[in-house]
Amino acid sequence: MADVMKKGRVFSGARPTGRQHLGNYLGAIKNYVALQDEYECVYCIVDIHALTTVETTENLWQNIYEMALDWLAIGIRPVETILFVQSQVPEVTELHTYLSMVTPLGKLTDLPTFKEKARQQPHNVNYGLVGYPVLMTADIVLYKSDLVPVGVDQQPHIEFARETVRSFNYRYNTNVLIEPQMIATETPKVLGIDGVQKMSKSLNNHIELAATPEETTQRVMQMVTDPARIKRSDPGNPDVCNVFTMHKVFSSPDEIAMVDVECRRAGIGCVDCKKLFARNLNAHLAPFRQKRAELGKDPNYVWDVLRDGQRRASAIARQTMREVKEAIGLPLT
Ligand code: SF4
Repeated sequence: MADVMKKGRVFSGARPTGRQHLGNYLGAIKNYVALQDEYECVYCIVDIHALTTVETTENLWQNIYEMALDWLAIGIRPVETILFVQSQVPEVTELHTYLSMVTPLGKLTDLPTFKEKARQQPHNVNYGLVGYPVLMTADIVLYKSDLVPVGVDQQPHIEFARETVRSFNYRYNTNVLIEPQMIATETPKVLGIDGVQKMSKSLNNHIELAATPEETTQRVMQMVTDPARIKRSDPGNPDVCNVFTMHKVFSSPDEIAMVDVECRRAGIGCVDCKKLFARNLNAHLAPFRQKRAELGKDPNYVWDVLRDGQRRASAIARQTMREVKEAIGLPLT
């Protein structure tokens, strides 16, 4: 793939949340893997962003390692894609400072995401939380990214990044920073095993990709189904059942059609339906789990990949910062 002409550079970042779950996979990583075919990709584990909300950094390194290992085992190709850790390229914090000078404070405090976070953690409304979108803009533009894959809920942030770039370029009469475009992605809302809330580690309603087949089956058997189906003999409604939603992703067309019909006439019980889903999910994840185990045998592998990513990301970052400082009129080092 490395010698295929790519359409542009994509940037995306995700917080180090450790072992990934089905929600991470379907909502982001699957798409990250696919984008590599057409774009030059820069994927960043945004540990600095994580500091705005985490209260302990005790497991930070472990979480970075586990997440990177999952991504690599799923199909991130580190020879062509740059995979690195945000804090290992400190130019991003410098660019964040320069961008903050062209960002009106009111615009940041008006953002719905800031208001939501401030509501969620009223005891810790820190400066970093307010400046989060500026740091995110710095992430994107530092690497001269053309495109950012985003779901609908993230679109205001990209609009913010574009406006910030325009303000910077206008203020310093330059065009060194690239206005990023969005690649609108379908980010399905993956529900947790409770069938109500978004799948999330903090809610403990997740299914880990790297779990054993037995653990996976156990979690699947705990999934909440159509709440109106009380007895085995009650007909169910797959349209309101999260197990059926998952079947639509991981089962064959024949199996999906069978569940759709048999559930409605009580021809299949929820236990058997879940067993079928668990079997298909485990089969789908088997190659990933095997590769994860192989890659994990060499404890240096992940760190080597991240170091190489840091080296390549730093080269782009240094060049951008030279151009940025020149445009501002700051002395070059
Ligand atoms: Fe859901 Fe399957 Fe039970 Fe129907 S049979 S309610 S689709 S788990």
